[in-house]
Amino acid sequence: MDNFNEEHKLVREMIQKLCRDKVVRRAAEVDKTEEYPWDLHQLFVENGLFNIRVSEKYGGAEMDYTSACIVVEELAKVDGACANTVAHHQAGMCCFMDGANEVQKEKYLPKIGRGDYLVGFAMTEPNSGSDAFSLKTRATMEGEEYVINGGKCFISNGGITDLYVLFTTVNPAQRREGITAFLVEKETPGLIVGKNENKMGFRASPTRELTFDNMRVPKENLLGKIGKGWELVLQSLTETRVLVAAMALGIAQGAMETAILYAKQREQFGQPIINFQGISFMLADMAIQVECARALIYKLAAMVDQGKRKLHYYASVAKCFASDMAMKVTTDAVQVLGGYGYTSEFPVEKMMRDAKATQIIEGTNQIQRIQIAKGLIKMY
Ligand SMILES: Cc1cc2nc3c(=O)[nH]c(=O)nc-3n(C[C@H](O)[C@H](O)[C@H](O)COP(=O)(O)OP(=O)(O)OC[C@H]3O[C@@H](n4cnc5c(N)ncnc54)[C@H](O)[C@@H]3O)c2cc1C
Repeated sequence: MDNFNEEHKLVREMIQKLCRDKVVRRAAEVDKTEEYPWDLHQLFVENGLFNIRVSEKYGGAEMDYTSACIVVEELAKVDGACANTVAHHQAGMCCFMDGANEVQKEKYLPKIGRGDYLVGFAMTEPNSGSDAFSLKTRATMEGEEYVINGGKCFISNGGITDLYVLFTTVNPAQRREGITAFLVEKETPGLIVGKNENKMGFRASPTRELTFDNMRVPKENLLGKIGKGWELVLQSLTETRVLVAAMALGIAQGAMETAILYAKQREQFGQPIINFQGISFMLADMAIQVECARALIYKLAAMVDQGKRKLHYYASVAKCFASDMAMKVTTDAVQVLGGYGYTSEFPVEKMMRDAKATQIIEGTNQIQRIQIAKGLIKMY
């Protein structure tokens, strides 16, 4: 049940083949070792996963947002970590495309269009998570440059990113009105990449601290306008949140498929366990939730592609529903597999760990519910 065009179907088939042939086996390995899979990275570069939406003029595939969601969903079916790497690059890209002026686009798009140049999104700080307006990383103008001091944490692709979209404040007292974004290249003196977090899930997707020690950034690297950084976040919010929803959908779909196949072949009491209503209803509930999430996500993706704006309310609904759904479906998948589901012999325990992150990233689900409730007050 879908409305995908031929291009979307081809993208899905291409990623499915890639995942089947190359990603599945490596995903389990690097989940244990926590190393970044550069071999898979190279494969993604060769298959254009990092420049999928970049204009052909710059070497990209110029595909639509729906295609980007399909890529993230299909990767997440077999590995949440790879999906997170690609999705967070897309999140950085959304802000870049919304905020960059023509000079910045001419400078960076040829690099991004090559397909091996990653863009990151750096907002969260040790004392500023959900309360993003309280961020303290400070940018002070000195002559033709900004001097930046402070630090970020939990930055996906930290250390492997080439260009960070960095959110600072020019005046912490101004909260939202002080937030100002910059483009920061990875080699910038004063940028210190910290330790990789030892995480529950997404273990092969690096999550690092960044420290800025008198880091000097030319004023040409200001992204958007002074004090207008939050507007960039708002502009890209729909796209970044629906991508997380697509990631959650993929994780849930992967867990559901594993659970169904297992329940069909595992026998207890002389018959396949799928014959027991206690199991088959659990699988039916998974399918109901997965299909509802898919319908909402791709409806929103199509609306983004049609140029519809102001979809934040629905993006929060999709992100919240899909990630809560993924947590429930993966937990139930472990249950369907019984003791085997609890071991790393099967992928569902990893999927359950990966699903948890989708309830936290891109605004926790509590924050999404606050946004949804605000929307309701306006609407009714
Ligand atoms: C794997 C991973 C990757 C990430 N990647 C990035 C990245 O690339 N870039 C980036 O900038 N950040 C990234 N983050 C950070 C992520 O966006 C934050 O963790 C998230 O926004 C929550 O912030 P916090 O962890 O400080 O939690 P807090 O804000 O401290 O929240 C703690 C708890 O309190 C709840 N809470 C807070 N305020 C309220 C409220 N008003 N009402 C009700 N409940 C509330 C939260 O929902 C949560 O349950 C990543 C995080 C993870 C885990």
